[in-house]
Amino acid sequence: MPEPYIILYIEDNRDNQRLVQRVLGAQGHTVLIAEDGPTGLALARESSPSLILVDLRIPGLDGYETTTRLRSLPYLQQTPIVAITADDQPGAREQALIAGCDGYIAKPIDTRRLPLQISEFIAGKRETVPQPDETPLLRAYIRKLVERLEQQVRELSAANAELQELDRLKSQFLSTLSHELRTPLTSLIGYIELFGQGMLGPLSDVQMQAMMVMQRSADTLSQHLNNLLYLQEIRSTQLALEPLVLHEWIIPLLKEMSGRAQQAEVRLQVKLDIVAPLEADGRALELVMRNLLDNALKFNQPGGHILFAVRDEPAQVVVRVEDTGCGIPNEALDKIFLPFYRVDSSLARPYPGNGLGLAIVRHIIEAHGGQVTVRSVVQRGSVFTIVLPREQERSVGDQV
Ligand code: ADP
Repeated sequence: MPEPYIILYIEDNRDNQRLVQRVLGAQGHTVLIAEDGPTGLALARESSPSLILVDLRIPGLDGYETTTRLRSLPYLQQTPIVAITADDQPGAREQALIAGCDGYIAKPIDTRRLPLQISEFIAGKRETVPQPDETPLLRAYIRKLVERLEQQVRELSAANAELQELDRLKSQFLSTLSHELRTPLTSLIGYIELFGQGMLGPLSDVQMQAMMVMQRSADTLSQHLNNLLYLQEIRSTQLALEPLVLHEWIIPLLKEMSGRAQQAEVRLQVKLDIVAPLEADGRALELVMRNLLDNALKFNQPGGHILFAVRDEPAQVVVRVEDTGCGIPNEALDKIFLPFYRVDSSLARPYPGNGLGLAIVRHIIEAHGGQVTVRSVVQRGSVFTIVLPREQERSVGDQV
């Protein structure tokens, strides 16, 4: 028996995969299969094979390009790469050698000869292109690569334009939908409030409780619609800047949140510095704080704790929202600020939401020239920190 080797076979055809695995497996070799070029590159990195077999007609990154890429990796410089293909056009062999292959095995595979062919390449056999042919072949190969690249750039640009158009249509649809839903919701909320205030006749305790449940649901729906509308309008809306006395302006929202926290049996602790007036958009900042506090409450549990702190510093104002909720896994931390992203884990799944809150938070804060960051430990809690500079350099003009 020959020495057992690890052989990587980059091939998308199942029958060929099985055949080579059976033939070389019978010799004691391990044959790893990659269905395409990028997977082959990753497997080659992980497994340091003794030899790589490449089918030249694989989809996507083709066999020639995959070989050139494999050949450029320093740790594969000495590894034989052998083309194995049904391409019998004149020059196919030379093209494979120019792309970086050390040899060429034609299909259909001769199962009796294959083990010997493999051993020869592992032992050092190398096929070469005659010197005078090399430069013109290299030129032709480079030209082909550039043409493929050009075509792919064209295709990507077209796909990108199509995606942008789809995105525009989606935004338009969401905007229309939100407006259409807002109108009936406004009258529903109005009537619920009238009932709640007893202006449409007295209600029994049970009816009043039902009315409160309806009010909470309507408020939640209203908040979702606000986020949705805001996100759609965000690019065209101007920041309405005014001197804002943050520690006073935030009080009504904190009162509302404190009532909701009490109901949820969560302790809301507030630490407010006296903050010198800050040039900011009050309505936009209210949405920021509301979204952060909403999340701190929503992802918390009874007995939990929220800290809302505003600190005045010479050049900036720092707002911190800390909670003792379910936390956010590390791998999701940079995605939670993307529109519609929600952590898809058992941690966050039971909570309602549409994944828009933090996208809006980041957009508004960055429009104020500020920054929002997050730290979190799963099952322990999260800390969102907002830094609002006093001297604002607005990265996106004056637009929210
Ligand atoms: P929504 O809360 O409507 O899902 P957000 O954009 O506000 O959307 O948040 C995106 C996701 O980030 C949430 O679905 C949740 O998975 C995670 N997340 C945000 N804030 C918190 C928090 N305080 N604790 C735990 N997870 C959070």
